[in-house]
Amino acid sequence: MKSKYSVAIIGGGVIGCSIAYHLSEDFGEDVVLLEKEFIASGSSGLSAGILSQQLWDAMNTDMVRRSIEWIGKKSEDDEALVLNRDGLLRVVCTEEETEPLRKNVDLQRTRGCDVRYLEPDEVPSITSEISVDDVRGGAFCPDDAYVDPYQLCISLARDAEKAGVRFYQKSEVRKVERDDDIFHLKTSNDSFESETVIVSSGPWSKKVGKMFGIDLRLKPYRTQVAITTPFMGEVSIPIVHDVTNDLYMKPETGGTILAGDGTENTESDPDDFKEGTDYEFMTSISERMLRRLPRSREASLVRGWSGLCTATPDRHPLIGYHSKVEGLFLAVGFNALGVMRAPAIGEIVRDMMAGKAKEEYITRFDPNRFETAEDFEIIQGFTL
Ligand SMILES: Cc1cc2nc3c(=O)[nH]c(=O)nc-3n(C[C@H](O)[C@H](O)[C@H](O)COP(=O)(O)OP(=O)(O)OC[C@H]3O[C@@H](n4cnc5c(N)ncnc54)[C@H](O)[C@@H]3O)c2cc1C
Repeated sequence: MKSKYSVAIIGGGVIGCSIAYHLSEDFGEDVVLLEKEFIASGSSGLSAGILSQQLWDAMNTDMVRRSIEWIGKKSEDDEALVLNRDGLLRVVCTEEETEPLRKNVDLQRTRGCDVRYLEPDEVPSITSEISVDDVRGGAFCPDDAYVDPYQLCISLARDAEKAGVRFYQKSEVRKVERDDDIFHLKTSNDSFESETVIVSSGPWSKKVGKMFGIDLRLKPYRTQVAITTPFMGEVSIPIVHDVTNDLYMKPETGGTILAGDGTENTESDPDDFKEGTDYEFMTSISERMLRRLPRSREASLVRGWSGLCTATPDRHPLIGYHSKVEGLFLAVGFNALGVMRAPAIGEIVRDMMAGKAKEEYITRFDPNRFETAEDFEIIQGFTL
């Protein structure tokens, strides 16, 4: 068994798989990915898979646009990877939110997004299923999409493996040592050596960072989703995001809807959090659905789950080499937006490692930008 590599990736979620894929061209057999459970067993497999360019900042909008384009192209050669491009309708219900929504739309349009602001009476032209009584403004991007996040991970991992990357599942990295410019990684089964280590361990990244002697400014937080019984029949709707009432609804196969909300504002332990849903969440999400999608009175919520997202103080991820541990590269802190940016992030990591990344990414995502260890508030990722 080969045990020496140029690059070892810790974590086989969508970020680790995308990095493995994008490094495979330059490094191929010199890359190993170590995953403590299975590919997509962490946050990625629990995600709603929404890909929305309607973000608050130009760089992120660009990254999602690039990722949608990338997944669209990839899906042409992989029939299991389906890109559902039915758009995303966003609504706000207070006057104060209309201005930021307009500004976001203007910004997204300058980046080439086909998104438009909607007055309340224009919303029904997108879908007549949505109740607009209390809506003050909206926006629609027909190119927003969704994907099965598990299939995205598998597609990336399979191609990376074909190009020579080695994947070890059920291989938890438990101990790290460094000497002679080489990392020694001890997993639950084996030992590996690598010149560079990339941490893409999702909500566990803070814990993994501790093995390298660093304290990362990350907070994993819990987010819940639930799925309905079939009730939509042949009626189709785009993804709907009600910003004011903190509700998103995504059509699923068989006429069901997946509904979720954003953020629990407290830090969670990825090895000890409630994986099911709270009773309060289930009752409140069904009330919010009923208000926005009256047809959902015909549905009940059959099951739900929770997963963790990972917050940073400024909503931007930490991507790049750590200044205190030579050879340690971080790709962590994707808030609630990891799947929608994953292909673009893989490209950025590849370019950073080759010394070719755009300066704006290097500066904005600099993993060393938080000097002090002050506490910070968890800010919702997917909002205005
Ligand atoms: C309910 C929910 C809905 C979401 N919806 C969306 C959405 O619609 N769109 C979107 O873009 N994002 C969404 N997200 C966020 C998205 O899921 C995350 O941003 C993304 O999955 C992060 O990917 P990751 O690869 O960094 O982390 P993960 O997928 O968690 O991968 C990290 C991996 O590291 C492994 N690992 C940890 N420690 C070790 C170790 N010591 N050794 C080896 N392996 C280790 C874990 O087992 C895990 O598989 C949602 C999240 C949740 C919870």
